[in-house]
Amino acid sequence: MQLRIHKWPEKILKKRCRRVEKVDARIQEMFREMYSLMQVHRGIGLAANQGGLDLCLVVIATEESTFQLANPRVVKKEGRITFTEGCLSFPGLEVDTVRARKVWVQALNEEGEEVEIEAEDVLAVVFQHEIDHVNGIPFFRRAKWRDRIRLYPQLKKIVKETRNELRKSAT
Ligand SMILES: [Zn+2]
Repeated sequence: MQLRIHKWPEKILKKRCRRVEKVDARIQEMFREMYSLMQVHRGIGLAANQGGLDLCLVVIATEESTFQLANPRVVKKEGRITFTEGCLSFPGLEVDTVRARKVWVQALNEEGEEVEIEAEDVLAVVFQHEIDHVNGIPFFRRAKWRDRIRLYPQLKKIVKETRNELRKSAT
């Protein structure tokens, strides 16, 4: 299995991913592949659909903690934070997003156990960014309208570059 980073506007990034029935050896192998793809690209989080997999899986590695989770969902949130985010699927784009400052996330861990994680600040932002991915929501949708309008030319450039790359790889 060779994963590559899928970039906007590839369809799989707009898709609500399939839930995982069970965390088995196949899923654990996908976690490993996703983790190494994320590391190669120096990301701190990656959703399965960014790697081209239609599954509700995310991997996260910040300075303090790492997670490999299936079917993650936010069950509670609190407060508000504005944060400048980047995304491997949107090369070069930086977006000021408005998100919850604290979230509680339920998921299955890499052993298939149900876990609940409490995350604040940067980690909370990363969780919300990755969970949005598996629900087909790109991060610029969390920006203020004014910023979305300002970012539009950059977004258009990314769309053009992705289409060029896809055309090249198809020939
Ligand atoms: Zn992203």
